[in-house]
Amino acid sequence: MADVKIENVRKQFGEVVAVENFSLNIQDGEFIILVGPSGCGKTTILRSIAGLETITSGEIYIDGKPVSKVAPKKRDIAMVFQNYALYPHMNVRSNMAFSLKLKKVPKPKINEIVERTAGLLGMGELLDRKPNELSGGQRQRVALGRAIVRDPKVFLFDEPLSNLDAKLRISMRAELLSLHQRLKTTTVYVTHDQMEAMTMGDRIVVMNNGVIQQVDTPQNVYDNPANQYVAGFIGSPAMNFIDCRISQDQGQYYVVSPGMNLKIPEDKALKLKDRVGQEVSLGLRPEHIIHSNFADQAAPGVSFKGSVWVIEPLGSEKLVYIRPENQETLIARLDPHVLLKIGDVADFKVRMDLAHLFEKTHGRVIF
Ligand code: ATP
Repeated sequence: MADVKIENVRKQFGEVVAVENFSLNIQDGEFIILVGPSGCGKTTILRSIAGLETITSGEIYIDGKPVSKVAPKKRDIAMVFQNYALYPHMNVRSNMAFSLKLKKVPKPKINEIVERTAGLLGMGELLDRKPNELSGGQRQRVALGRAIVRDPKVFLFDEPLSNLDAKLRISMRAELLSLHQRLKTTTVYVTHDQMEAMTMGDRIVVMNNGVIQQVDTPQNVYDNPANQYVAGFIGSPAMNFIDCRISQDQGQYYVVSPGMNLKIPEDKALKLKDRVGQEVSLGLRPEHIIHSNFADQAAPGVSFKGSVWVIEPLGSEKLVYIRPENQETLIARLDPHVLLKIGDVADFKVRMDLAHLFEKTHGRVIF
């Protein structure tokens, strides 16, 4: 167990700056998720912690000690990859025992550790099988087991579940979490899957173009995105964005766009005093657009009219694609029992108290 401190790390591959100005303090026992689109630098950070990449500048500390000059195998870290990287000619027991043999751990001790770990992962029956006699999920469990037997200070996971089918991914996600509850080993987990990001981490680090955009608990990132990029990246379906202009009339503030004139609640309006006339982007989560018949009349909200373009009934909810006049399509997450059909023109209510506003130019959050 250890804390990991990443201080002002930059990694450049020739002309390409993969990671820049990356600083993060990971607490002992914490489960940290690195999330972001392909090429944003997630794997580079993971490989830098492991020592598989030499950082261009900055420093990484594990357990308080700088590790830039420490060889990967001396960093006491175990990494689990997407492609499992098992030895095909060895059975499960030998795959799991391999690193312990290299460390010259006595054989009875190795057997004890391997059997205990196999039990932990529900693989006691599979110890004599070779990797090609296992399913994808079982192979990934062996890869996990191989990491666990080393009892490392830090686990690094690089998209470990992305080769599994959707159902297995969900159950392995739960298994990994339950394992973490028991082992409490500091973990850094890379994914581009935002369901994994939302459900697994104590904190998530959202990256874009090699730069950290926000670090916070999943719920805070969802509720209070630091900028328009994060707002659009976290959440599925994604947040709706509407181009608007800020206007003021008789002391009230509005965001105005063709066919829409949405009043800003008073507490939020305080932030708009010097912004009248500015171009902004209004951000609405799909669940904050409500069919008027279902809206809680007490909830602060304003209405607009739109025609129903597509309906996706998902059982627990309905995703409804709405086209307000002269606007881009908006996606609403509605009650599954709402009676709407394609082509209907209906009134929808917007929870402006939960809406976000971003500067049009840089995507900086206003509220
Ligand atoms: P993915 O989700 O696709 O794995 P990622 O977020 O993990 O992406 P990285 O693999 O860290 O991204 O890559 C970050 C950037 O650095 C990319 O532009 C990539 O092309 C570049 N890069 C990574 N490794 C090298 C390398 N060995 N040589 C040159 N460029 C590299």
